[in-house]
Amino acid sequence: MATLFKDVYILDGERERAQRGHLLVSKGRIQSILDADAAPPQADKVVDGGGRMALLPGFVNAHTHAAMALLRGLGEEVALKKWLEEKIWPAEAKLTPEDIYWGTASAILEMLATGTTCFADMYFQMECVARAALEAGIRAALCRGIVTGPPIDGISKIDRGIEENLKLFDRWHGREGLLTVQLGPHAPYTVPLDDMKRIVDISKDRSIGLHFHFLETEWEFGYISDEFKMTPLAYLQRTGLTETPGVVLAHGVWMNPVWADSVDLSQLTIVHNPCSNMKLGSGVMPLDTWLDKNVGLALGTDGASSNNRLDMWGEMRSAALLHKGVTRSPAGAPALDILRMATFEGARAFGFANKGLLREGWVADLALVDLDQPHYVGADEDNLASFIVYAGSSADIRGTMVNGKWLYKDGVYTCLDKDEILHKAREARKAILS
Ligand SMILES: [Zn+2]
Repeated sequence: MATLFKDVYILDGERERAQRGHLLVSKGRIQSILDADAAPPQADKVVDGGGRMALLPGFVNAHTHAAMALLRGLGEEVALKKWLEEKIWPAEAKLTPEDIYWGTASAILEMLATGTTCFADMYFQMECVARAALEAGIRAALCRGIVTGPPIDGISKIDRGIEENLKLFDRWHGREGLLTVQLGPHAPYTVPLDDMKRIVDISKDRSIGLHFHFLETEWEFGYISDEFKMTPLAYLQRTGLTETPGVVLAHGVWMNPVWADSVDLSQLTIVHNPCSNMKLGSGVMPLDTWLDKNVGLALGTDGASSNNRLDMWGEMRSAALLHKGVTRSPAGAPALDILRMATFEGARAFGFANKGLLREGWVADLALVDLDQPHYVGADEDNLASFIVYAGSSADIRGTMVNGKWLYKDGVYTCLDKDEILHKAREARKAILS
């Protein structure tokens, strides 16, 4: 079935100007893009934008823990380490596989309604996350969070984590063209150094991507030098992370852009999570300086319990404003760079090819935006990116499409039962807190 978007503004993170025209989707792909004065092609369904709608690539939430939607609001306003140790980890210990399934499904509802077409998730019981993603029809990049701990039945917790992660890869990587799987060592302070090297070797040998929390807080900077007697940059080099393709570092708040002047970091992607980092008081990464370096930069929300939204549009606006304020420069973190980070860069980092830009032949993962709103008066081809990032919000999302198929349209979910999911999520939440 072909869907024609007639007379819409077409914008992505690599277009200096939006294009007003027609975009035809067929067989899950963007079949053609034509200027507004061309005759619109035939299609089974027509969305007539009348010059009052925009199409963006769907957002890629490049770092989250979806099922943590169930833990939203727990332990507010305490620092990361205390928050994890006293609030989050004890609550997570009570989560059943079913809880994780329903928590993830509720997070997917929130992400679809805010224009997200792909999310990168690190958690446990990842089979449940994979199932929830496939049932929803949303794209996902999955990894099993690998952490150290007491051995179970004589097998180390790290070994068990690696085994589960590899099973996840064998079973789900590439499934229905929607899923990719990475290795998920949690962080330098939860994975011993030798194990980390081993996991990076597996990543390299088997060409499996790797998703890792790195330098989220200043405390971690000190931990690496005290515990491993090396600098964080040396840690990246000695574990092999800088030489391994497909490595994604979540946060990187305390990474220093000058590192990129002496060491090749071009294979890495750093995922900026501005709201979570602000809310947990972790600091502000120097994004504007990183934008001048040869390194991948994507955008994520982190889990809903530290954000507390799963709203990539909100993340875009926060990132764009935050860095202008911190650097006292209105030119810092330009709107178009932020849009590219929120879409194309995340897709690329997690191994999704031909996704995240609006180009003929590319996959039709789209967000449809209603421009018929007071805050878009004056938006045109030249300024649409700044209207989107600074004036718009996810409340403007009219529809979210993955692989050419609507998953959310005009407030209705096409594949998910919202009432059932919310009911089950509320029940799960009650059980965790009881
Ligand atoms: Zn995280």
